[in-house]
Parts: sequence; structure tokens; C-alpha cells
Amino acid sequence: MLTLHHHHLSSLPRVIPRVLLPTIATKRLLSYKPHIITTPIITKSQSQSQKRSLHLAPPFLLDSYVPRYLQLSEIDASKKRSQAYAHLAKCNLCPRKCGVNRYEGTGWCLIGEKVKVNVIAPHFGEEPCIQGHHGSGSVFFSMCNLRCVFCQNHDISHQRNGMDLTPEELGDWYIKLQEVGNVHNINLITPEHVVPQVALSILHARSQGLRVPIIYNTSSYDSLESLSLLDGLIDIYLPDFKVWEPSTSKRLLKAEDYAVTARESIKAMHAQVGDLCFTGDGIAKSGVLLRHLVMPGLEEEGKEIMRWLAENVSRDLFVNIMEQYRPAAYVGKVKARRRGNVNGDGEREKGEVMEGEEAKKEERRYAEINRAVNAKEVESVRKAAERAGLWRFCDPPRHDGFNI
Ligand code: SF4
Repeated sequence: MLTLHHHHLSSLPRVIPRVLLPTIATKRLLSYKPHIITTPIITKSQSQSQKRSLHLAPPFLLDSYVPRYLQLSEIDASKKRSQAYAHLAKCNLCPRKCGVNRYEGTGWCLIGEKVKVNVIAPHFGEEPCIQGHHGSGSVFFSMCNLRCVFCQNHDISHQRNGMDLTPEELGDWYIKLQEVGNVHNINLITPEHVVPQVALSILHARSQGLRVPIIYNTSSYDSLESLSLLDGLIDIYLPDFKVWEPSTSKRLLKAEDYAVTARESIKAMHAQVGDLCFTGDGIAKSGVLLRHLVMPGLEEEGKEIMRWLAENVSRDLFVNIMEQYRPAAYVGKVKARRRGNVNGDGEREKGEVMEGEEAKKEERRYAEINRAVNAKEVESVRKAAERAGLWRFCDPPRHDGFNI
């Protein structure tokens, strides 16, 4: 039996920084009254519900599931705590390897000892097997260790907006999401630069009664050290594999070593948790769910990624090939330095702003990706994935069952 005491909750932050929720749900979160939790970690009815009633190959169907952090011994938990503190004192935890003391300053990611959180809320924008019926308990961390010029969340990942939280306060929010939001999981979004704090928050939350799986939702720009700290704490890895060529990642992600790092990281994640598995209610509980956002004009890189995954990770890897790319962040913005009218020599006069069709044609940043993807590009990546032997895709169901 696990107990949640009143004094733990009385110190919870009173304000949700920015909420994606409908108002009623927000009010429920804010008016949460602490109570004693007497539920066992996994109930009988949970573990026995709708057994083997889905169109799903048996190896990927679980009768029940206990999160990995609940299986960790106290000795391993305290080892992880001291590793996390040591990393904060000299942070080389992500591939940027700044070596800074985060109790005193910040490195490339601009985040010190406390995490900065932009949104905490049940979220319904994820894959059906992740969001389920009650939503995924999402925590959007501010800032990132990449600077993707097309970032689809740039207001969060490129700006230091939000609320500062200690690892313990962060862990208390997981409990709120579980108890009030009734979410299926805790979904840590863009956490690569706050892994020590995340590890400490999970260990705190387990002592407070957390019992839902933890998702690590990452760009894959992680290090092996950081993934080893997370080993035993994370149930589902949700890595992106964005681009393949170093020249592309240098230009668009501001990290030339992105693909080599992602390859190493995704292999390590898969070695920890394996292929994606579900319980009979259609909700994913453990394993890797890989995402690839098809980029305009970069479908050859997408195909390369699919081939590599099939050959080096697993042909049973669950893959979501996404088509919702839209120009964002710096893409399509007018280039300030080239503003001006063309003079007699064909050069632009400084200070004068181009207008109309001419501005549209010439003056956009990252013009090569300043459009949506087309169906042909998406289809070609999908076909390459199938040819390579991948078969578990995040598609709408062709039967009456869940989308798994
Ligand atoms: S997590 Fe931040 S401080 Fe640590 S190495 Fe990466 S960018 Fe630098």
C-alpha cells in the first residue's frame, strides 16, 4: 500500500503556467483536495481487463504491467540519486558536453538546477495508444539542446518561459496528473537537457504513490550516459529520428552530429525496453515508439532512416511516419539583411523594405523547406519502410479494434 500525505500536497504550486485543457478539467486540477491513496499498485481488474480480445500479435500483448521505476531496489534508487546530483555539478550529460556546474550557472541549454516547465496538462495530441481516453499527462519543458529552425513548438523550446520547479515539485505534479487528470502515463516532452532533474522527480514521485508508466519523448539528441541514468526509470521511449545527413542537421538542427548520436541513442533505448507492447485496453505500456516527421524535399533522408531502423534496431519497431510538417520558427521569415530595393547595379539599397511578389520569391529564410510536404513524399518514405521490412505503423485501424 502506498500513502500520499497532506503535507506533500500543500506545497504544490498553485498556478498552472499554460494549460491546453478544457476549462472544466483545469478547474478540477486546481481544486484538487489531497486524500489518502489506498489503491494497490496494479489492480486485479486492470490486469484482467479485455484479455487478448484485440487484433494484435501475442508477443506485443501484456496481461498486466508494473512500471520499471516501481521494480527498482532502494539501493539502485539511491545510486541513481547520487549520479544525478553529480551530473548537475558537472554537466556533460547531453552531446553538447558543457562541463558546467548547474547549481551555479548554465550551459548551452540555459537551464540550471531547476527545470523550467511551460505546460503541464492531460494532452490529446499524441498517438491513440499513448493518449487513450483520458489523455497523456504531458509536461512540456522549456528550452532544448537543439535549435531546429523549423521547430513546431518553438514558443516553448526556444524561449525560457514558464515556471521553475525543483525535482520534488515536478514529481508532485505527476501525482496530480495521475490522481486528478486520471491520465494513462506521464509524458516528458523535450527532456534531454533536464535528465538529472527528471530522474530525481521520478524517484520522488514513486515514493508518493505514482503508478503510471513514464514516457521519455525525445529528439534523440541524447548521450549514452544520460540514457544509462534513465535505465530502470523509463517505460516508453518516444524518440524522433529527424534527418540523416550531417550537412542537413548542421543547417536545420544546428548539430552536425545529430544522426550519429540519434543512431546510438535509439539503439540504447531499444536495448532497454524493446518493441512497443500494449495491455488489452489498447494502451501502450512499454517499448519504443519511433516518430519520423517527413520533411519537404528530404524524403531520401527519410528512406535512409527507415532502412537503418529495420536493419539495425528491429523490424518489429512501432513507427509513426508523420505528415504534419508546416513551416514554423525561422522558416519562411523574411531575411532582414537582404531587405531593400534593387538599384541600377542589381544590388539592394539598405533600409528599404521589399514588397509584394518580389519579397515572397527571394527573401525567405530556409526557402527549401518553406512548404508543407506532399502526399507523394510521405508515400515514398512509407513504401521504403515497408520494403525494408517494417510493418507496425501508426495507421487508422482497418478493423473495429483499437489503433494498435
Ligand atoms: S544538458 Fe545543458 S548544460 Fe548539460 S551538457 Fe547539455 S546543453 Fe550543456
